[in-house]
Amino acid sequence: MNPIWLTVLGTAAAVPSFEYYTSGLLLSNLNDEQWLIDCGEGIQVPFFRYGGNYNKLRRIFISHLHADHYIGLVGLIMSMHMHGRKLPLTIYAPHGLAEILTAILRASDTQLKYAIEYYTVPEDTLSTVYKDSRWEVVAFPLKHRIPTVGYRITQIQQERRFLANEHTSSIPFEYIRRMKAGENILAEDGTLLYHCDDYTEPLPKLSFAYCSDTAYDERIIEYCKEVTLLYHEATFLEQDRVLAEKTFHSTAQEAATIAQKCGAKHLLLGHFSYRYPNRSVFREEAERIFPSVYIAKEGMQLNLNQLNHSKTHA
Ligand SMILES: [Zn+2]
Repeated sequence: MNPIWLTVLGTAAAVPSFEYYTSGLLLSNLNDEQWLIDCGEGIQVPFFRYGGNYNKLRRIFISHLHADHYIGLVGLIMSMHMHGRKLPLTIYAPHGLAEILTAILRASDTQLKYAIEYYTVPEDTLSTVYKDSRWEVVAFPLKHRIPTVGYRITQIQQERRFLANEHTSSIPFEYIRRMKAGENILAEDGTLLYHCDDYTEPLPKLSFAYCSDTAYDERIIEYCKEVTLLYHEATFLEQDRVLAEKTFHSTAQEAATIAQKCGAKHLLLGHFSYRYPNRSVFREEAERIFPSVYIAKEGMQLNLNQLNHSKTHA
């Protein structure tokens, strides 16, 4: 099975620069699909540069309608249209986005070559917005100046690991396959031959959560409990906490506190204000609270399966 990759497309708060794009994260190999989370200005450039494929991009999740989180959709949608995309696209977002994009397409008299389905995400309650046999996506409210949601993507069932030793070498492969799926092996008369718990151990479910933009909000602790990787915005440092509170953003210390309280395995910080040219200070501040901190960088790729099995920072 191909590993699940998270690719960072944009890391800047509010405004892009020569060096940084605004928010965008790409998940690859979910049911052989790619999913995009937030789509700041010009995100199609790092999307195509760092492995995005418009024939695989199937779902886009938007957190809120501040421009640095969705305005790149217009360019991306038009480019995929011009490249001849046929695959339907589903966009999940708080209310209002469908009207904006529909008006833009109407103004240019564009009849897209593919269908876009809009899913309006409830803004003030926990809700499942997508589910299939392998993945569930839950949206939850964040604390920002306008209605904003976070997303948690959780693997529904992870295959068990077979515990092989000299005594298990005679177990037929077909039995092993069934036990890895969590099944006990019974004889024809119903007696138990192998109990799967004796020969396999379940792997922890892989999960990823996205929290941007938000002020420090302890509701997140419940929503993101024991997540494999928590992406949490860290627009500011503690030295500018007054500014963070005023603008409903978080500091690196606050993001690390949330990661620690929800029992996340790893923390990915992003959405950095332009006022800090040296980003290593975010790591220093967060690592005082939480041990495994990644600083988002355009083009950075994280193997979520590997992170799920490791306990500390690679
Ligand atoms: Zn915002």
